Amino acid sequence: MEISEKNTDILIIGGGAAGSFAGIMAKEYAPDFDVTIIEKAHIDRSGCLAAGINAINAYLTPGQTPEKYLDYVKRDSNGLVRDDLVYSIGQGLNRVTQKVEEWGLPIHKDEDGNYLARGPRSIKIDGENFKPILANKVRKSRVEVLNRTVATNYIIQDGAVRGSYAFNLRDGIFYVIKAKAVICATGGAAGIYRPNNSGQARHKMWYSPFNTGAGYAMGIRAGAEMTTFEMRFVALRVKDVLAPTGSFAFAGAKQVNSNGEEYLKKYDKINTPIRLYATVQEEKAGKGPCFLNLNNISKEEGEELKRSLLGMCPGIVLQWEEQGISTDNIKVEIEGTEPYIVGGHCQAGYWIDKNRQTTLPGLFAAGDVAGGAPKKYVTGAFVEGETAVINAIKYSRESDFVDDIQDSMIKEEYNRVIRPLKHTDGITVEELENKLQDIMEEYAGGKSKSYELEEETLKEARILLKELKKQADHIVAENHHQLMLAHEVIDRIEVARVLVEHLIYRKETRWPAYQTRIDYPERKEDWLKFINSVIDTDSKKIKIIERDYQSLK
Ligand SMILES: Cc1cc2nc3c(=O)[nH]c(=O)nc-3n(C[C@H](O)[C@H](O)[C@H](O)COP(=O)(O)OP(=O)(O)OC[C@H]3O[C@@H](n4cnc5c(N)ncnc54)[C@H](O)[C@@H]3O)c2cc1C
Repeated sequence: MEISEKNTDILIIGGGAAGSFAGIMAKEYAPDFDVTIIEKAHIDRSGCLAAGINAINAYLTPGQTPEKYLDYVKRDSNGLVRDDLVYSIGQGLNRVTQKVEEWGLPIHKDEDGNYLARGPRSIKIDGENFKPILANKVRKSRVEVLNRTVATNYIIQDGAVRGSYAFNLRDGIFYVIKAKAVICATGGAAGIYRPNNSGQARHKMWYSPFNTGAGYAMGIRAGAEMTTFEMRFVALRVKDVLAPTGSFAFAGAKQVNSNGEEYLKKYDKINTPIRLYATVQEEKAGKGPCFLNLNNISKEEGEELKRSLLGMCPGIVLQWEEQGISTDNIKVEIEGTEPYIVGGHCQAGYWIDKNRQTTLPGLFAAGDVAGGAPKKYVTGAFVEGETAVINAIKYSRESDFVDDIQDSMIKEEYNRVIRPLKHTDGITVEELENKLQDIMEEYAGGKSKSYELEEETLKEARILLKELKKQADHIVAENHHQLMLAHEVIDRIEVARVLVEHLIYRKETRWPAYQTRIDYPERKEDWLKFINSVIDTDSKKIKIIERDYQSLK
């Protein structure tokens, strides 16, 4: 691999929703700055937005306020969120929505020109081309994009982040990119648990299979503080096709078990984790499978449902057409996905301040990789991207490029990155991935275990993952593409180890199904606090830190 050095004022890692928005805004706020995005796929269709989405799920419709948004997010997260972060997201949601509309995103409107609401915080869009619209704006803004370039680790000097190492999948160049400030926007982590689909279809999953926790792993290795990994996210989705249940719920569908009973009626307070938890309980009680039952809707409502599904999950509509199923009597089977680590739906990620600065000077985080603010969705990722960039610009104006990076540091990372290419014999990517997913499934609350956790098995997971990390030193790659896959598994093992420590530490059940401790089944007020972790960069030991919850009120 050829080594190439490069300087940029602001480096954004990950060209998804948060990264693209940050790039565009960087050139608006600081047109004189060099801004570079490194994206491991192609920015036109990368990340969670790649296949399109059909609604903006975090928007304040008339009557909604940032305070009400905070109340809702807190309720849905059983009381524990970073109030300051969520509130500041609430303040920016409508501003960023207006921006993307100006850039070409079609948003549905009523006859008076008002956005068409799907619920108090959700508006309808034609979002199948959301990502290309953003990518075009990135290009027009003259942000440099290095596509198919995989970030591997931060450049660290005197405890501060001064850039990133990366390699290009096509030409094999190993980059040493120096920056005055870095924004991490690599999304969450899929593929840590055994996926619902197997074999060739194993990457057919709800979360983007290409978001494999690189940003988390880079932060963990560099000694950044991470928060709330134990709040895993499990999506309740239509079986096989993974269509969003929300589209059916907004059309009036009810969750029923195999006896036709509306099982949510058994619960007092219904929020997102409970909808999933209740379904899992019905399955455990032998009353599964469960369904979303939608009948007695008008032809127009049926057409509207189809239209909204076509924007992000056309498979289900095509299936109905092929099988002659009409929308006036729909019953679709639902199930939970495998667990993910996703800061934008739950709140696992970097511990950041209000400026979106991490605990490492020079490093900012935005979107799914940033912690503390669940339910931020795409517009929340935009707000965080903008906030991060404003503060990264301020930081950059007061700092300079790192003078000289020691050759030995570059060599160390280069050798770590290319090591799998040097192995002719060892463990394959698929073998290592299967082992990781088996450990997590069996011992750390996978779907087949009804997502349930207990100390004894989690401690077994801890031991097995330690062993697996050693085996990862022998992973084999035959080409640059396999090299990327190898590092994806290495990163996921890093994330899994931290996740298990968080799961062991929280001795209560705060978020049923996302985090059900069968040995501590109650929610306890003295656990209304954040569980954070930091790796000691010398001993490599994971240290847990407790941080108090702080109410804005
Ligand atoms: C299936 C699905 C449906 C959704 N539907 C909706 C919806 O209807 N409405 C709504 O408001 N929100 C929706 N969301 C949420 C929304 O899409 C996400 O919250 C948002 O995209 C998160 O932005 P992000 O930038 O953090 O991550 P992403 O947009 O996923 O971007 C992360 C980027 O980082 C890149 N990357 C990863 N690792 C590396 C690396 N090592 N080097 C370089 N680049 C890297 C990835 O390729 C990717 O482009 C949905 C999410 C999913 C998964």
